[in-house]
Amino acid sequence: MSGTESMRAHPPEDRPIEEGAGVRIHRLMADLFPICRSRTGDGVRATLDILRRHVPLEIREVPSGTRVLDWTVPKEWNVRDAYIRDPRGRKVVDFGRSNLHVVGYSVPVEARLSLADLKKHLFTIPERPDWIPYRTSYHEETWGFCLTHRQFLALEEGEYEVVIDSRLENGSLTYGELLLPGEQDREILVSAHVCHPSLANDNLSGIALATALAEDLAGVPRRHSFRFLFAPGTIGAITWLSLNEDRAGKVKAGLVLAGLGDRGDIHYKKSRRGDTLTDRAAAHVLRHSGRPHRILEFSPDGYDERQFCSPGFDLPVGRISRTPYGEYPEYHTSADDLAFVSQESLADSFQAVRSIIAVIEDDRSYVSLNPKGEPHLGKRGLCGSSAAEERAFLWVLNLSDGGNSLLDIAERSGSSFAAIKTAADALVEAGLLQENCP
Ligand code: ZN
Repeated sequence: MSGTESMRAHPPEDRPIEEGAGVRIHRLMADLFPICRSRTGDGVRATLDILRRHVPLEIREVPSGTRVLDWTVPKEWNVRDAYIRDPRGRKVVDFGRSNLHVVGYSVPVEARLSLADLKKHLFTIPERPDWIPYRTSYHEETWGFCLTHRQFLALEEGEYEVVIDSRLENGSLTYGELLLPGEQDREILVSAHVCHPSLANDNLSGIALATALAEDLAGVPRRHSFRFLFAPGTIGAITWLSLNEDRAGKVKAGLVLAGLGDRGDIHYKKSRRGDTLTDRAAAHVLRHSGRPHRILEFSPDGYDERQFCSPGFDLPVGRISRTPYGEYPEYHTSADDLAFVSQESLADSFQAVRSIIAVIEDDRSYVSLNPKGEPHLGKRGLCGSSAAEERAFLWVLNLSDGGNSLLDIAERSGSSFAAIKTAADALVEAGLLQENCP
């Protein structure tokens, strides 16, 4: 019932999700998948360049060494090649085959060493012998390789040659930002992290879904302004907050998008305040969608919601994911690949995000122009084609005293937001309701 209701109503949610939303998002993920991203460097730039084919992102470069809140923008890291040659001269680990093989932020190295010494720099997952782990070393200048446990077990005694052709030097941190202005300057913030290499669900699903959303929103009238942020996790969000402290107060609602392509149920994590418009819109949409889902309380860990919801900002930003990070075995391994994410899940996540945004966009309050006694609906042709429709008229008329918004009315009446909005639109048309302009 509520599924069909949420398909109705008005722009931007009026347009039914096109059949190919999952295909379109998955295709963009495939374009981005081979790139070796990290929290800085050319991989992030290459990623943003591809996104710019879809939306007019502005690219920001913030120099290494810049103080950002309690942090400092790090040195920029780039890697051209890396490998391990065994005693017989064979390349047994090759960055060319998977960019997960190099520990992110590895310092350059060119050395010959024994197997015992080499092993101090090797990381595997013994329980998953065919998967390569994903690791970074952001806080210590060292080097390392990640490999499958099977590769590890096959290493023979002898002298190994290791090469990491990387650069760790002053440069900049890169992020992408897109502002779609609306009628109001209050903003809806949508953020995705862009710092993981070839990992599909953790990183690319959020990036590609946010891009598809931006593409769609760019083509419709908007009440709120929308700000899209594609930045490296943690340091990118901290950098944006540091450079935009004055603007942060304009954020009226926001979503961190991460992990939206796996086959698990949707999990919405509330903002720090727990009762913001974002939280209420998300809970409402998920409850009325009929999808199995879970609402999680706020916690100060996770993705960049932890920065947006730090107490000095306390922004109304929640996070939407499917299976939460760390709760699926493929997380941060080579098994989080393009086959791990499904087009159906991506399309379903896209629809959920769009519906939540539609509620935020359309939530407003009205004043009944006939508050004394019920207005005569019949003589205005507003009998309602069903009991539910008539109930929706009565709820909207009764609670529209300027103080209750459509979402308040939907929640109090138990109806879906879409049904309440449809009723309100008809009542405005009939001259019984007027938008409450504060
Ligand atoms: Zn991650």
